[in-house]
Amino acid sequence: MLPEILPVAERHGLKFDPKTLGKKEARAKCPFCRADSAPGKERKFYLSLNTQDQVFKCWFCGESGGVFRFISLLEGIPESDVMERYREQKGKGYKPHPAERLSLHQYRLMGYKQKPDFLGLRKCDLRIYKRKRDECWQDWRDFVAGERRSAFQTLIVGIHGINFQEAVQKIREREKEIGAELLKPVLNIYSLSERPEWTEQAEAFALHVCDPEKYPFPSTDQQMKGACRAERSPK
Ligand SMILES: [Zn+2]
Repeated sequence: MLPEILPVAERHGLKFDPKTLGKKEARAKCPFCRADSAPGKERKFYLSLNTQDQVFKCWFCGESGGVFRFISLLEGIPESDVMERYREQKGKGYKPHPAERLSLHQYRLMGYKQKPDFLGLRKCDLRIYKRKRDECWQDWRDFVAGERRSAFQTLIVGIHGINFQEAVQKIREREKEIGAELLKPVLNIYSLSERPEWTEQAEAFALHVCDPEKYPFPSTDQQMKGACRAERSPK
């Protein structure tokens, strides 16, 4: 099903020949050449809109095409964007991208002041909207990765040090706070026979926290960063 061409023309303020409204072919003033807006042409309506096939044609300038091209010309955006926007809007409703489903609280945790206005962006510029959406999603993934790193360290401290149950509890609380899984993925990583590289440094620091005598402080810059994060970790 194509979008209906008549409401599109109405939305864009086209002037209709009232006699033709309700007919299969509606006539309007052509917004592309405006030849029928010249003095003395008050009764002329060069643009023909076929309300059955959703196509248009100006009998004066020859501009013609389907409804997507019509919208594209009226709004000055590429036809492919018009089609994509239509595809996204129709059907059982528009499915928001995961970045759009993140809450304001989650955006604040990532360091944003506000949640981006995705709806507004989508209406005004599809490309900017997509870029923003992907950027936010990447930020969220980075944020969660950092959280998992902290949770992993908490787990190591719990296992080698003070209190395992307390560590698990801490991770669970943080999980609720940020609205992303931590405990399960971190336990999975811990039980791998070959763990990802980042866990080495994370573990080295966590062990140092448990027993500074036995495990000397890791010294590189990156490890320092890990250290700082671990100190502020799950509260
Ligand atoms: Zn025209």
